[in-house]
Amino acid sequence: MIPRTLPTWQLKSWQDELSQLIQSPEDLFARLNLDPQHLAAAQRAAQLFPLRVTDSFVRRMQPGNLDDPLLRQVLPLGCEFDEAIGYSNDPLGEAQTNPVPGIVHKYHGRVLLIAATHCAIHCRYCFRRHFPYAQNHLSREQWAASLDYVRCDTSISEVILSGGDPLAQGDKQLAWLIEQLEAIPHLQRLRIHSRLPVVLPSRITPELVSLLSHSRLQPVLVIHCNHPQEVDEEVLAALQELKHAGLTLLNQCVLLRGVNDELATLVALSESLFRAQVLPYYVHLLDKVQGAAHFAVTEDRARELHQGMLAKLPGYLVPRFVKEISQEASKTPL
Ligand code: SF4
Repeated sequence: MIPRTLPTWQLKSWQDELSQLIQSPEDLFARLNLDPQHLAAAQRAAQLFPLRVTDSFVRRMQPGNLDDPLLRQVLPLGCEFDEAIGYSNDPLGEAQTNPVPGIVHKYHGRVLLIAATHCAIHCRYCFRRHFPYAQNHLSREQWAASLDYVRCDTSISEVILSGGDPLAQGDKQLAWLIEQLEAIPHLQRLRIHSRLPVVLPSRITPELVSLLSHSRLQPVLVIHCNHPQEVDEEVLAALQELKHAGLTLLNQCVLLRGVNDELATLVALSESLFRAQVLPYYVHLLDKVQGAAHFAVTEDRARELHQGMLAKLPGYLVPRFVKEISQEASKTPL
């Protein structure tokens, strides 16, 4: 395991880093020395979905390069105003699978809890960029109704903490929630969907690792990493620590035009992930959310990339290429 070093910026706690996100296009442009002629469009588009990115993620971007694959994921663009046919604010029809606030129940045997209503980074292609988080922000009392829902349905064996980013909340709240879930006898697994191990690796503290690895529920952490440049030494060390503590680590990524729609990039991503002890799980076709059409990759191109990966990698490094169709009983393989 690579020992985790403490560079100067890491002397900050993860909470400090989370409270000092880059949230203004001016700051991002100045920080990366970007061409100012694109600033006004970025400022307008940030009103559709605010800019938000960690300093740690920005450190992995190449200054002056508007096409940097990490920058493209967070930079607001004027084309987000284009109304694209077939795109909507709720592409997965989650409003119809939101039986009580804080719960999304789509598939048999597992249920998703909106465990936090904010993220450390705003991905411009996020299918929840229009999600009514305000209506799903729960007090402890409201949590009781969500937990009752899980308690009353004995077919549920796995709870997925999602959001927002479930690891954006503090350990105390997370520990309380895990304790409530552990007390539900039919639950077997706790799955956490989080981008924080990648965009804010300092979040992976010894206390968090201990909390997750000592649960009676089998812990599965699904990270979200789209490009090999995202896996720097700090991310690598944080993920290795989680693996060392016994967590199952999987990755899901979104196929994004101009970010990771080249075979060499996807092959390098799988290899970087495996070095960090993470298995590639899903490559998702873009969910058709309004404002993100410029990221779309065609199904034919996705199939071609999948075939290319099969030819270049061992089977365990080739993720499943899937798309999500609203109201289907599972994700649909391409
Ligand atoms: S971290 Fe996940 S939930 Fe948050 S904006 Fe990105 S894709 Fe969406």
